[in-house]
Amino acid sequence: MEHQLSVYNTLTRKKEVFEPLHSPHVGLYVCGPTVYGDPHLGHARPAITFDILFRYLTHWGYKVRYVRNITDVGHLVNDADAGEDKIARKARLENLEPMEVVQYYLNRYHKAMDALNVLPPSIEPHASGHIIEQIQLVKEILNQGYAYESEGSVYFDVEKYNQQYNYGVLSGRNVEDMLNTTRELEGQEEKRNSVDFALWKKASPEHIMRWPSPWSDGFPGWHLECTAMSRKYLGEQFDIHGGGMDLIFPHHECEIAQSAASTGHEAVRYWMHNNMVTVNGQKMGKSLGNFINLEEFFKGSHPLLTQAYAPMTIRFFILQAHYRSTVDFSNEALQASEKGLDRLLEAYKNIGRLTTTEEGEPYNDAWVEKLEKDCIEAMNDDLNTPIVISHLFEAARVINAALAGNTALSKANADRIKALFDLFLFNLLGIKDEQKDGNASYESFSKAVDMLLQIRMQAKQNKDWATSDNIRNELTALGFEIKDTKDGFEWKLNR
Ligand code: ZN
Repeated sequence: MEHQLSVYNTLTRKKEVFEPLHSPHVGLYVCGPTVYGDPHLGHARPAITFDILFRYLTHWGYKVRYVRNITDVGHLVNDADAGEDKIARKARLENLEPMEVVQYYLNRYHKAMDALNVLPPSIEPHASGHIIEQIQLVKEILNQGYAYESEGSVYFDVEKYNQQYNYGVLSGRNVEDMLNTTRELEGQEEKRNSVDFALWKKASPEHIMRWPSPWSDGFPGWHLECTAMSRKYLGEQFDIHGGGMDLIFPHHECEIAQSAASTGHEAVRYWMHNNMVTVNGQKMGKSLGNFINLEEFFKGSHPLLTQAYAPMTIRFFILQAHYRSTVDFSNEALQASEKGLDRLLEAYKNIGRLTTTEEGEPYNDAWVEKLEKDCIEAMNDDLNTPIVISHLFEAARVINAALAGNTALSKANADRIKALFDLFLFNLLGIKDEQKDGNASYESFSKAVDMLLQIRMQAKQNKDWATSDNIRNELTALGFEIKDTKDGFEWKLNR
């Protein structure tokens, strides 16, 4: 396979050329949502980031098995080993079955991901559907001596594990410091060490999500599901594990420990993490009042938003930053993205309206070749989407200059630019023209508008100003923007 994709591996802290373990097969596992609330930007970013990776690897001919899990049990309110289960809590508050909560929010998650044009993964396993596999994994870790039972619960023995392996290998945390500073075991007296984490928790009498096990009626620890399900579907060793940076510790550190403790080796070859999202320069938080969910963005129904933002504006905006940089959402920045994306989509449509020449200078074959090469190189460089987008803007500028008659493009090169947009903007970056794709009859509609404007041009030639003005005024009133050009006209329908 002819690619040279380099990815930043969080584990080795450097960019590495991606080499699959069993080419052409690639195993990709990404931590999915805990489904107890409306989908928000924190869900959109990893989904879009790894959608790009999925699309890019698929483009090169790899057969990617993309597993993205659904956490529907075991994720406790304080993200550690205490507090109520997040889903059970929501179920109690809303007087629903826990699985009703899961289904309700999962449907909404799927709907939002679909709107963002995120491709569905190959397998979407639920933690609650893999309790047997998780119990099996706890047994293996116990057999290897890296876990202990205490009052019906089972905990991972971090101190013992760290004598053989390195707890902190991914996050860079020093386990000695953690052992020394977190000696206090208040409320966690069952643990030998407060850094130990639960593999199995005994359920209290009021806990509703519970399963029988050799140790107690209880439920699995949050970190266990990803180790059990990635192994089940991708094997004991697989290529890429992704997720948000906020999952590096403790979640992914614990996954590594569970794999190594049970099999003697790490499971993952490349760990990839997307950076976080901020809103108006601040971390998103319910208490800060800046927690805007995706539907509110799509409808413009949050007090901090001055307008609605189409799903493609959100997607494009996220891709205008590299996935390892933070993205700060603000009305100004989103509006700039909306305009930018419109400009690209307009330029794409304008390719078909160009009067091409035999030969084009200075935008000749060499120039188009370089543009194509630059786009591939940017994708190969750890999925550098903002650089790809900047090259597409350069192409748009040339298309518009050619349309205005300020430069020339040959037919062959205009076709190559069209192919470049098809591949990079639509196929790899996953942008769709919502105006067009949202309306199956758009093509007929578009032809009808072209026809009206042809009639207007004829009317002008015949000095029939009444008809010409009438068509222009009526279309403008309907929201069309009409521009006369050297060769005829351009139009667009403003949102
Ligand atoms: Zn996970």
